[in-house]
Amino acid sequence: MSCFDYYRERFQRFYAEQAVAEHPVVARVAERLAVEGPVIVEGREEVPAADRNEGTLVAAAARGRVVNRCPGSHGHICCNYLTIDLYAGCTLGCSYCIMQSYRNYAPMVVHVDTAPIISAVQAVAAANPGRRIRVGTGQIGDSLQLDPLFELSRELVEAFADEPAVELELKTKTDFVDHLLGIPNVGRAIIAFSLNPPQIAASEEPDTAGLEARLAAAARSIEAGYRVAFHFDPIIRVGAWREWYGAVVDRLRRVPAERVAWVSLGTVRFTSALRETIPPRAYMFDEFIVSRDGKMRYLQRERVELYRYLRARLEEALGPVPVYLCMESPAVWRRVFSDSRSAPAGSLLAPLALPAGL
Ligand code: SF4
Repeated sequence: MSCFDYYRERFQRFYAEQAVAEHPVVARVAERLAVEGPVIVEGREEVPAADRNEGTLVAAAARGRVVNRCPGSHGHICCNYLTIDLYAGCTLGCSYCIMQSYRNYAPMVVHVDTAPIISAVQAVAAANPGRRIRVGTGQIGDSLQLDPLFELSRELVEAFADEPAVELELKTKTDFVDHLLGIPNVGRAIIAFSLNPPQIAASEEPDTAGLEARLAAAARSIEAGYRVAFHFDPIIRVGAWREWYGAVVDRLRRVPAERVAWVSLGTVRFTSALRETIPPRAYMFDEFIVSRDGKMRYLQRERVELYRYLRARLEEALGPVPVYLCMESPAVWRRVFSDSRSAPAGSLLAPLALPAGL
């Protein structure tokens, strides 16, 4: 099945907001989807209720700020990540996806005009001389699920190729990288893969690419000049977790360590709203405590055990690549990294200045 057949099967309707109706990306996508149209609406709210479902795509203009700080978590260490909302929504169906608890608009919305986003990131870089600007599109959707169709990541990669401070991260659970492999200068762009053992992904990440496919995509990305990153998030403590996660880390031995930008670790966590939204899963009946940000997490000693184990296995497999914890407390950071060379430097954690009006 061709990549566009995948999209044609999945999406039957294509709407475009008036503000982007003439954008060349909109015409290209309509042709690739082989739909008549798109249907033009003033705003996404005007998509009829009958079409507000996962079979509908909406090309839209970005609203509000186009570059934001990663929401982080109150009382937890923030790694200063910036987010760009290019693709909003996702149909990959992960059982733990936080978007299920707050997203009340089913169609996937794509902000097709990258020009304001590019200018905003460049303004952040200019306002923070000497700092690394880590920015990613995978906060409220998968960076690459729709990207072969819209080809917006290419515009960002090319725009930031000569910005030495900007590290654009495209984070995915797919293996949809081939449309990005022919770009002659990818600068400091990173293609990142979320990883979980196949035993867990099979039940909790139903429509994602398998581990082998993601690792093969990582190898092709490296070959094409990208650095890669890996996210073990959420780590779920079920079954033979040591053996399962250890086997995944062992697969990374083939990856050249100097091409790994970073690895992040985060244990499964959820709000009470998410817990009420998703159907019961075995892993949710483990023991959890409520953290300072109101989210439920494993007990601290158990999180430390999971992180230490994975950190040690990663160091063994890859050497001292940068490893960080996602949304974790200072106490856990201290206990996990007190003896390590792999934690990110303090400068990575100092807040970036965001100019007004982005
Ligand atoms: S890939 Fe990410 S955004 Fe998509 S369902 Fe899974 S967790 Fe949610």
